[in-house]
This record gives sequence, structure tokens and C-alpha cells, in this order.
Amino acid sequence: MSSSILINPATETQLREVEHTTVEGVDDAVARAVAAQKLWAALAPAARAGALRDFATAVDGAVDELAALEVANSGHPVTQARWEAGHVRDVLTYYSAAPERMLGKQIPVAGGLDVTFLEPLGVVGVIVPWNFPMTIASWGFAPALAAGNAVVLKPAEWTPLTAIRLGELALEAGLPDGLFQVLPGKGSVVGERFVTHENVRKIVFTGSTEVGKRVMAGCAEQVKAVTLELGGKSANVIFADSDLEKAAAAAPSSVFENAGQDCCARSRILVERSVYDKFLELLEPAVKGVVVGDPTDAATEMGPLVSKTHFDSVSSYVPDDAQVAFRGTAPTGPGFWFAPTVLLPASRTDRCVTDEIFGPVVTVLPFDDEADAISLANDSVYGLSGSIWTRDVGRAIRVSRGIESGNLSVNSHSSVRYTTPFGGFKQSGLGRELGPDAAAAFTETKNVFISTD
Ligand code: NAD
Repeated sequence: MSSSILINPATETQLREVEHTTVEGVDDAVARAVAAQKLWAALAPAARAGALRDFATAVDGAVDELAALEVANSGHPVTQARWEAGHVRDVLTYYSAAPERMLGKQIPVAGGLDVTFLEPLGVVGVIVPWNFPMTIASWGFAPALAAGNAVVLKPAEWTPLTAIRLGELALEAGLPDGLFQVLPGKGSVVGERFVTHENVRKIVFTGSTEVGKRVMAGCAEQVKAVTLELGGKSANVIFADSDLEKAAAAAPSSVFENAGQDCCARSRILVERSVYDKFLELLEPAVKGVVVGDPTDAATEMGPLVSKTHFDSVSSYVPDDAQVAFRGTAPTGPGFWFAPTVLLPASRTDRCVTDEIFGPVVTVLPFDDEADAISLANDSVYGLSGSIWTRDVGRAIRVSRGIESGNLSVNSHSSVRYTTPFGGFKQSGLGRELGPDAAAAFTETKNVFISTD
């Protein structure tokens, strides 16, 4: 049986070995999930709601423990990791209201009564990337469970620890055995088996666009439902009429948070040409002020990259002759540290402008006018997130409507709230997670006509 040896990315010390689930292990888990789902769906809605609230309470009691696991396994700064664990609790609490609100419709027809039911799908397979291991997992499992499904969840090879603990907490909270199972292992084994298994009725995949395309093609074989949350290369568009100081002060966190390992990272800063130099002047101290260091320290704002492999990939975008405007600081010594880096690319087609680097590297490019800003923002295969800075309300609305992206914010960088829908345009994905409709996405609509004859 294969296994992963987990490394603390801030210290390069060995943390733990985690065994990989085999194909047979997946098949056993799915069989148990099928049985558990039938009992779960037959429970009274209020009982399912109560069980999810108990799960949320168990997560709340383990916030510090989960945060410590994420700090050690992923290198997330502890304040951020605590927020992530609290977010999982909140997502569970939010969707605990769904079982009692899975409303169908009564549709006027002749000769009888016509009603729709939102039927659970059965077993849902959730495949998670390494960058936000617990939060992204919860966006899939919480609404799926709320809608009456069982869930099998595969964490990423590098970062399985918080997901494994969440699986234990679900059992400790009293969720039925087999209903929510966490199966660590390889994408090519566990992930692919989720896709090919006939009793897994939907795949929620978050990860790279490349693997997402393969998952979608695999799902087509069985006409299996699929949600894809994929890559991003989002624009932070700054107009000359904006509060430039505020825009510059906010820009670093919008791209360097989680060391840039964020699908929503605003990794292309686009600035109106007339204020381009002024903006760079204001950006420099903000970038140099980012506190990069020990993730266990509450003052730390940015930790290390997740692994050596990923460090090498990010480094390839900053070769010795790269046009670096300025960089922040990072510790030396053990750990996969990468200083926040601002690049001034030679052209709009440079690979640092077009590729998702997924590290603390941002490019800054000038634009000429509103039309140029929109066309530059849209000049990407991705369309996940983005920000627009302007004091002109009409422009804010025009540009928001013009940018092909699923999640935009004006004069702020917010993009993920569990109460609002989240997902991408173009090759950033398919389908939406979170928000009031997420549980319905884990159901099939059944129409029943009852004759009054
Ligand atoms: P990845 O695609 O390499 O892996 C994602 C998951 O898929 C892992 O669990 C992996 O084991 C599994 N996997 C790999 N091969 C598989 C296969 N053949 N079949 C099924 N599953 C397989 O991505 P990653 O490197 O872990 O994560 C980084 C990527 O995730 C970035 O592109 C990032 O933008 C994206 N991401 C997107 C969102 C979003 O919401 N849109 C959120 C976070 C991350």
C-alpha cells in the first residue's frame, strides 16, 4: 500500500505518514455510503438539521486543534487557519437550515395536482486541492449532506490532516457511520475511482483546470453530474479616479494571502496609465510591509509555500533576468519561503501574465481607458474573481458587467462568503457553490402528477 510522508513546509521536518486508500478501499467506502445515505434520507428533516448542527458544534470545539493541524501541514498563518476552521463551522450551521427548507413547487395543471420534489442524488464524491483543505471541503460536504446525500471526500495528497480530523469529528458528533467518509490517497487512484464508480452520482472537483477537464470527460461516460472549481488569474483593475492610497494598501493581501496559493488571487494588477507610476510608489511600502514568517506566530500575515515541488514551480516565473519592480522579505533557512514579488512584464502576453502562478507573484500592467481595462481583464482563459477600484458608480457597474468573471468586488477584495454563490466563468469552472441554492445543486428535481379523477 502506498502512503504520503507529510512535511511541515515552514520547517521541512517530517510530520506524519498517511496511508493511501486503494481502489478496493474506495469501493468498500462507497458501499457503506450507499447504505448510510438511504437511512439518512429517511430521517425527519429536523433530525438531519439537528445532526448537522451537532457537527458544527463539534467543529467549533475543535477550532484551535484544526488550526494547529493546518499550520503544521499547510503552513497557513495561525490567525488565518483559525478563521478557516470557524468558516467550516459556519458553513455547516448555514446549511443545517437547508433540510427543513428543501422546497418543491406546486404547479398549476389541468386534471390534478402537480408537485416537484428535490430528491437527493445518493453518494457524492468531493475532490479537494491542497490550498484551502478544510474550507473547500466544507463547501462540498455541508450542502451535499444537508440535501440528504452521503459524501466520500478525497483530500489532496500533501494536506489531508484537517479533512481526516473533520471526518472523525462528524462521527464524534453522532453523524451515522458511513455517511461522511474521508479517503486520503492519490488523485489517479481514489479521485479517478470516484469518477468511474457507478454509485457516485456527482463529483465536486476543485483543483487545476487540467485535471478538471479530465474529471469532466470521465463524468461524461456515465452522464454524471459535475461541479468544477478550477484555476484563476484574476484582475485588480485600478482607475485613476479611485482612492489610490486605499487601493495600493489593499492590493498585497488580495494576492499574497495564503502565499498567493489562492484561486481568487488578484494576480494581475491593471492600472490606468495616468496614475501608474504613482500607484507603484504607493504599492512598494505596502508590499515591503507584508509580515512573512513563522506561521505559528499570530502576527504573521504570510507563511511559506506548501512544498518544495511547488516552490520550484513558482520560482520558475522569477528567473534571474525577470523584471522585478520590488520584493518584500522572507525568512532564510529551512522552509519553502518565497518573498512577495512584483513584476513589470515586458508584454501583455508574457507567461507571468497569462499563467496561474499560484504563488506570491503579481504583475502590474498599465491600461489606457475603460474599454482597454475590460478587454485586458478578459484576456485570459480564466474568469473566477476580480476587483474594480473607482469612485464612479456608473463605471463600477459597467465594468462589473463587462468583466467575464464569477465573483467581483468594487472597492474591496471580498470574494467568498458562504451566503453568496461562488464559481467561475470560462475555464475557471462550471456550476456554483455556496449561497442559498447550493443544497439544491445536490438534488434531482422529480415531477409528480396526481390525478383528481
Ligand atoms: P490538482 O488538480 O493537481 O489536484 C486537485 C485534486 O484532484 C487533488 O485532490 C488531486 O489528488 C486530485 N486529482 C489529481 N488527479 C486526479 C484525477 N485524474 N482524477 C481525479 N482526481 C484527481 O490541483 P492542486 O494543485 O491540488 O490545486 C491547485 C489548483 O486548484 C489551482 O489551479 C487552483 O486555482 C485550483 N483551485 C480552484 C479553486 C476554485 O474554487 N475555483 C479553489 C482552490 C483551488
